[in-house]
Amino acid sequence: MSDVLRSGMIAQGQRVADFEQAFAGYVGVDHAIAVNSGTAALHASLLAHGIGPGDEVITSPFSFIATANSIMFTGARPVFSDVDRDTFNLDPGQVCEKITGRTKAIMPVHLYGHPADMKAFVQIAEDNDLVLIEDACQAHGATFNGKKAGSFGTGSFSFYPTKNMTTSEGGMITTDDEKIAKRARMVREHGSRQRYLHEMLGYNLRMTDICAAIGLVQLQKLDSYTSARQRNAQMLTEGLQGIEGITCPVVRQGCTHVFHQYTIRTQYRDELVSFLMDKGIGTGIYYPIPIHMQPYYQELGYADKLPVAEELSREVLSLPVHPQLTEEEIGYMIDTIRQWSVDR
Ligand SMILES: *Cc1c(COP(=O)(O)O)cnc(C)c1O
Repeated sequence: MSDVLRSGMIAQGQRVADFEQAFAGYVGVDHAIAVNSGTAALHASLLAHGIGPGDEVITSPFSFIATANSIMFTGARPVFSDVDRDTFNLDPGQVCEKITGRTKAIMPVHLYGHPADMKAFVQIAEDNDLVLIEDACQAHGATFNGKKAGSFGTGSFSFYPTKNMTTSEGGMITTDDEKIAKRARMVREHGSRQRYLHEMLGYNLRMTDICAAIGLVQLQKLDSYTSARQRNAQMLTEGLQGIEGITCPVVRQGCTHVFHQYTIRTQYRDELVSFLMDKGIGTGIYYPIPIHMQPYYQELGYADKLPVAEELSREVLSLPVHPQLTEEEIGYMIDTIRQWSVDR
């Protein structure tokens, strides 16, 4: 980091190239393209595949708004499909029903760090000649049948501070397709691959060497952070199992879950949140309003009924699971929730 500052080369330079190479190696793909946010990674992935006005992209309504907004940026239309109650991820069967002549891509989200059903989505994309873009912004290092999230289609990652690894702000695109990698690099750089020659419309989505220097260090720590998250999650699930009114998160066969969030479901969310708050335990709700019900999307005329996403938005509650938690803190969390269930 101080080397970068002393070098005077603080914009996109050698550190970004090093970080791209290291991240591509980590995910197991041929190419990685660093950008300045996860949102930019999604946007550039879509543009690199030529997605734009008139196209439809099927995605999850139960995600961060950036998932759908990145589709809107291109002029394409997000089409929302309902999710699976247990994994919180897109349900492949329902996605098939949403495919029309205008569908160009499917964008599954690996929500909370649990991979979507990539066997099914790879097959659906192949059968219908669709682009597969993975929103892996919460899934650094998660695997499905031994392959990393972001290596099935075109992967998009975020390095925002709350994510499993950070560069302050930042993002990454991952792909095995050299043509897509080239196009993504052009989108990042005002549609240019040769200085002052502009072949398409692009943006300034560059990552700085300062951010890349942070990313290189964070990437080395990622697996130990992930192990700590997984250990914390296991302790929570063992401790909370069997408490009435609480459903613990599942890990599907063949998947590794990297627990960006540890998210339970409960019909008694409001009272549990305030009980925990009184005992000094902060919690989070991701996400309280599904995307199709956000005011902006309502204004656009979205009137879908997506009952599982809508129910989950009322029931999900994320408990602390970050790598710095101590065993005592996890024990205290479990005891406090047990006390709540006895009291009520
Ligand atoms: C964080 C996040 C994004 C956006 O990433 P930024 O770096 O904040 O732009 C997109 N999708 C999901 C699922 C995310 O969690």
